[in-house]
Amino acid sequence: MRGPRVSGASVTRAAVCVASIRSVRSPGAPGPLTLKEVEELEQLTQQLMQDMEHPQRQTVAANELCGRCHQPLARAQPAVRALGQLFHIACFTCHQCTQQLQGQQFYSLEGAPYCEGCYTDTLEKCNTCGQPITDRMLRATGKAYHPQCFTCVVCARPLEGTSFIVDQANRPHCVPDYHKQYAPRCSVCSEPIMPEPGRDETVRVVALDKNFHMKCYKCEDCGKPLSIEADDNGCFPLDGHVLCRKCHTGRAQT
Ligand SMILES: [Zn+2]
Ligand SMILES: [Zn+2]
Ligand SMILES: [Zn+2]
Ligand SMILES: [Zn+2]
Ligand SMILES: [Zn+2]
Ligand SMILES: [Zn+2]
Repeated sequence: MRGPRVSGASVTRAAVCVASIRSVRSPGAPGPLTLKEVEELEQLTQQLMQDMEHPQRQTVAANELCGRCHQPLARAQPAVRALGQLFHIACFTCHQCTQQLQGQQFYSLEGAPYCEGCYTDTLEKCNTCGQPITDRMLRATGKAYHPQCFTCVVCARPLEGTSFIVDQANRPHCVPDYHKQYAPRCSVCSEPIMPEPGRDETVRVVALDKNFHMKCYKCEDCGKPLSIEADDNGCFPLDGHVLCRKCHTGRAQT
């Protein structure tokens, strides 16, 4: 007579991801003012000396060139100070649409000024609502979201700062909803095999091509909990039944 076969069980863990948050660029401060104002104080204090040493002062210093056209800025001419440089008013324009930005809110992008509309066009769009993300951006599963737009596709609960799991179509689920929908069912109690509330992972026993809760993995006849190891306390299956060694031997003899 052949001895009972022992079956090893494997254990699978379900991993979860956590969304990360990063902040996006904030607008630059509008900074129109005249070169005259900028240099008024300096002029007052240096007037006398300059008059004596350079009575016909025609040249301008290198730092008084327009940041866009690199031509000199005339002293009496209004100028815009922005991005650490001075510009002719006509030269301080949106990098994209070339509209003048003097007196307007503008945004700095890689050192160049942009009007609000063009800057908004450069922003990433929310994967859920399609609107540009101007404040905080949540990046998850390779896509950008408004934090309030990254929600469970089943219960619509916001998932910012919590654990979530994506399905095969990359759609985010809160952990309970994911498991309710996709978790394997226990072949003994038919309940989904999912983490306890507050836990991120669970243990599933796989044996005889069936899934079991750890607590449900026990002998069908005597109820003795079975080891997942292929040892004497493991499963000794008979005709697809999960049995302990003793009950296997008992059934095999009848
Ligand atoms: Zn210029
Ligand atoms: Zn523009
Ligand atoms: Zn959105
Ligand atoms: Zn949910
Ligand atoms: Zn069970
Ligand atoms: Zn038993």
